[in-house]
Amino acid sequence: MNTKNLNFETKLVHAGHKKDEFGSAVTPIYQTSTFAFKNAKHGADLFAGKEKGYIYTRIGNPTIEALEINLSELENGFGGIATSSGMSAVTTAYMTFLEKGSHMISTNAVYGPSRGVMESHFSKFGVEYSYIDTSDLELIKKSIQKNTKLIYIETPANPTMLLSDIEEICKIAKKNNIIVVVDNTFCSPYLQRPLDLGVDVVLHSLTKFINGHADIVGGVLIAKEPEIYNKLRKTMVYMGCNMDPHQAFLVSRGVKTLALRVEKSQESAMKVAKFLENHSKIEWIKYPGLDSFSQKKLAEKQMFGYGSMISFGLIGGFNEGKILMDNVKLATLAVSLGGVETLIQHPASMTHAGIAKNDKLKAGITDSLVRFSVGIENVEDIIKDLKQALEMI
Ligand SMILES: *Cc1c(COP(=O)(O)O)cnc(C)c1O
Repeated sequence: MNTKNLNFETKLVHAGHKKDEFGSAVTPIYQTSTFAFKNAKHGADLFAGKEKGYIYTRIGNPTIEALEINLSELENGFGGIATSSGMSAVTTAYMTFLEKGSHMISTNAVYGPSRGVMESHFSKFGVEYSYIDTSDLELIKKSIQKNTKLIYIETPANPTMLLSDIEEICKIAKKNNIIVVVDNTFCSPYLQRPLDLGVDVVLHSLTKFINGHADIVGGVLIAKEPEIYNKLRKTMVYMGCNMDPHQAFLVSRGVKTLALRVEKSQESAMKVAKFLENHSKIEWIKYPGLDSFSQKKLAEKQMFGYGSMISFGLIGGFNEGKILMDNVKLATLAVSLGGVETLIQHPASMTHAGIAKNDKLKAGITDSLVRFSVGIENVEDIIKDLKQALEMI
């Protein structure tokens, strides 16, 4: 079925699915490492790209391809490349666009390991980088060097909720011939579609909202243009960070309910944010839907909703946060986000523990910051749980 002109929720359910010879309602798991050629010429034609088909699962597989088409249509891309994890999608992007002596500009509060792997590994190959506040457009302009090849942004940034203006950043990048990659994990394509705003590549940790059920780890890259798509696929195939068919099957199942899950959790997040904002033990709170959020206008310009991620600080600091995390009963104390279950965590000692303290502070990741991912449970239960835990402080 051609799903290109259908609406988002319909694409979620149908895009990429091909009925097999038995008329299967969902794409089956093709749990096979290799595919037989009809004859020698067929094999040679597949390798030469003269014919379309499957060769070997690291290169392509029907179950994985169904997911790639689905996600690419959701982001309005040319094509998708599924990877073993969100981090392998990140490293595939770095590997593709950076080389010895080239320079990357990135959001300073980017996902911890996305920064960690650059500082500890890509630096070994002579890649240079500047981690800056990418919500500041003038600072981006000033940070561009002759050798800048990539602007890598995360918006909203994790966990500070700082937004970067995707459209304006793309304008700056185009003038300077620089590729723009956006990590769209926090929003999912339901809330933000960076390729429509001029971005070259969007990537996701599928582990979060898109799969949504906290039962797999996975990633994807989606390119706007064929040339970039081909480059990314080549990197993924050589690096061998392909997704597994079983993993792809689970993500294809999870993604169908993305719109329902995000709607429910963001509706609850607004209520949770208002409850926290008015609580005497909360020092500050960042949620794009609150009037107190300084970038609310930008959120409304580039996002279709406010999402379900909340950051807040307790009066006091880490010790108070620790009491809260040790006393919630419904919310799970765990890293990750965007699942059906509500999660709470402390970035300074958990997801962003590997970043130097000074860099953390510069990026706004203070000891008092608590990150809260609102799930799809009944919102009264979520608030009641927070309320009783806050009373223990
Ligand atoms: C989790 C996450 C990643 C990494 O994804 P994995 O699937 O854990 O490898 C990258 N970026 C963001 C914003 C994330 O939240």
